[in-house]
Amino acid sequence: MNILIINSGSSSIKYQLLEMPSAKIICLGSIERIGSTDAISTYKTDSHKVEKIYEIKNHKAGLERITSLLLDPEMGVINTTDDIDAIGHRVVHGGSDYTKTTLVTEEVKKKIKKLSPLAPLHNPANLEGILMSEEIFVRAKQMVVFDTAFHGTMPTKAKKYAIPNELYEQKGIQAYGFHGTSHKYVSEKANEYLNKENTKLISIHLGNGCSITAIQDGKSIDHSMGFAPSNGLVMGTRSGDIDHSLIFYMVDTLGYTLDEVKEHLNKKSGMLGLTKFNDLRDIEAEASKGNTECILALEMNAYRIKKYIGAYTAVMNGIDAIIFTAGIGENSSLMRQLVCAEMDYFNIKLDDSKNDLRSSTIREINTNNSKVKILVIPTNEELEIAKQVYDLLK
Ligand code: AMP
Repeated sequence: MNILIINSGSSSIKYQLLEMPSAKIICLGSIERIGSTDAISTYKTDSHKVEKIYEIKNHKAGLERITSLLLDPEMGVINTTDDIDAIGHRVVHGGSDYTKTTLVTEEVKKKIKKLSPLAPLHNPANLEGILMSEEIFVRAKQMVVFDTAFHGTMPTKAKKYAIPNELYEQKGIQAYGFHGTSHKYVSEKANEYLNKENTKLISIHLGNGCSITAIQDGKSIDHSMGFAPSNGLVMGTRSGDIDHSLIFYMVDTLGYTLDEVKEHLNKKSGMLGLTKFNDLRDIEAEASKGNTECILALEMNAYRIKKYIGAYTAVMNGIDAIIFTAGIGENSSLMRQLVCAEMDYFNIKLDDSKNDLRSSTIREINTNNSKVKILVIPTNEELEIAKQVYDLLK
């Protein structure tokens, strides 16, 4: 079965075509900076690798570009759009109605639209991707995999906010949780690796967005992001945890509009707000030259992660393993070292030489006498989506 995975972001589309169940990657690529005259299109197969800069006005034009690459007489991998059997769309917010992979229906599309105010950077782009691919890949089964789905197992005491009951019961205000596809994928890999039943895991997804999940017996039981993907850890441009009073103070006393506050907290905060850099590679390079803002930002980032590890260890009454994943988690030995420093009370002991090694597969970076395993596990959201789509259709 040929399954195309489409992950539409606010200004990008990432895609991967997989043959299932073998999980062979037929091609993969992305279009970044959609809406600009210098959008970057990448496309990779076993025999071709191309990167080009074009004007790509919108998501429709982006998907058309991807389709023409897939069908290209020289570099292409399919003969007609009918060669795609199914499309798996990553959708960020599925609310509480969708806790499983679902076939796209008119009702599902309406719901994704309705949930857009809760994930304004993501859900509208996800819906656009679905609408476009329905037009282009007419024969393919269109499926959605929600980032919130894995967290549907969070108990009420973890997902409910201490605000008036009617806001939860009638308005759906609760923590939903995000990055579910990634947390599910890496925690399943960890369980296979540990070969143990009833595990207690802490999965730390550190990419542009960052989140941390407590996973007991394979189920998400608590998670750092909440109602929207903004709570919790310090991210590239998002603040993570704040005292909500500062929103009122910024509006009532400092004179910001609500839109400006939203813009500040979502797009101008996090590592960018602290350092003027968004990419952790730049921040690490600056820190090594003695830039004190960058050094402090790295310390704040690791400090926040440590606090969540402590909290989740307490709620699970112990841990078997912590998992680092995504761009920063997989690649930044410095961030892992800052997070794991002085954690011997929790029996978390990092082996510095193992931490410095690189590998594209699962690896253990704790010392031999560390009771808690520290695992680096490359995430693969596309494969997880393809697996879920295949399982539903086979
Ligand atoms: P993701 O959202 O998972 O693609 O992660 C993207 C982020 O990972 C980038 O913005 C960088 O901050 C970070 N990243 C990627 N490679 C490295 C690296 N070698 N060292 C440190 N951070 C990295």
